[in-house]
Amino acid sequence: MQPAPPNSLLGLTSQELTNLVLESGQPAYRAQQLFDALYRQRIDAIDQISTLPTDYRLRLGEMGWQVGLPKIAGKFVSSDGTARYLIEMADGETVETVWMPEGDGGESGDGSEAGDEIETSSAGTASWRRATICVSSQVGCAVNCRFCFTALLGVKRNLTAGEIIGQIAAILRDQRVQPPLQRVNLVFMGMGEPFLNYENFMKSVGLLVEGIGIPEARMTVSTAGIVPRIRDFGREAVRPKLAISLNASNDSLRTEVMPLNRKWNLGELMTAAREFPLRTRERLTFEYVLLEGVNDAAEHARELADLVRGIRAKVNLIALNPGAELPYCTPAQERVLEFQRILVGAGIATFIRRPRGRDIFAACGQLKRTIELPSAT
Ligand code: SAH
Repeated sequence: MQPAPPNSLLGLTSQELTNLVLESGQPAYRAQQLFDALYRQRIDAIDQISTLPTDYRLRLGEMGWQVGLPKIAGKFVSSDGTARYLIEMADGETVETVWMPEGDGGESGDGSEAGDEIETSSAGTASWRRATICVSSQVGCAVNCRFCFTALLGVKRNLTAGEIIGQIAAILRDQRVQPPLQRVNLVFMGMGEPFLNYENFMKSVGLLVEGIGIPEARMTVSTAGIVPRIRDFGREAVRPKLAISLNASNDSLRTEVMPLNRKWNLGELMTAAREFPLRTRERLTFEYVLLEGVNDAAEHARELADLVRGIRAKVNLIALNPGAELPYCTPAQERVLEFQRILVGAGIATFIRRPRGRDIFAACGQLKRTIELPSAT
């Protein structure tokens, strides 16, 4: 894997900024000015940092420092208001990041609670009550889930903390969102497996909370099931909510659709889930992508209920977002509803995730750096 350029200010903690300013003989308070400019004002060039003396701004540039805000190389807007951004890093690598606004009608449709992730209503781009940004953590992905488009890319490299934050900063700028960011939620559910880029991911969480000003309670990270990192994550003092991509109700099925299950099987994964230290009123989320004729039968719903029972959790069902490259089909709506009915009947809180931006290839599992729009979905 190639490292990203190291000269980006975005991604530095206040301690790292303090070291930087002290090394160049500046007073320590300059670090706070830099921190505010980078994360609160979200400037995109050093010469915009008006609180710094002009000669120090020049000096930072001469030393090779840049803000490091990634470039918006493409933007596709869906009929439902969702925008898929193609974000270009300094080395030319690109990832996708999705902006999902919700209107102010409050017609959430699936009973999910406030602060939740992608289960949203239709919305226009002009006004929104709440918005969710779906963030990428890696260029591509190494996990190889057989129903996911991102898997087709393989993994190119990890994103740095600055590049993870850069996606959010670039979109907040483009959408002209001003602080305080009370109406913005984040989901780490874009390209990549956040728990295979754990340190950069957690560093970005810290900076998002302290710098950008998004509380961790409004962030959710989804993992394909990297069990040792789930345990590490449970020990973090400041952490987003956790979602686990289950996608199958028994080991043989899960190994078929998620080969990663050979390494950490359902027994180990569910033990980690059961032992995960939830906070007051916090719930785990289990995601379950429904694949027609594969994992969508009544018996699978019952097996899933048995797996999840006793855990303070909810299940999010996602009907497959289809594509010609994938060996699976999307189940009919009645099938999805029947699956939900069985789970709800077994006492499991179960929601159906509404697809966002399928027409622009922005929905779950569809992120694969499509430069052109698909002709049909
Ligand atoms: N690597 C993490 C983060 C990606 S989140 C993880 O696996 O959890 C993406 C979510 O979309 C996951 O729950 C995944 O199971 C789901 N997904 C992947 N491909 C999909 C597809 N084609 N249709 C619907 N959901 C999909």
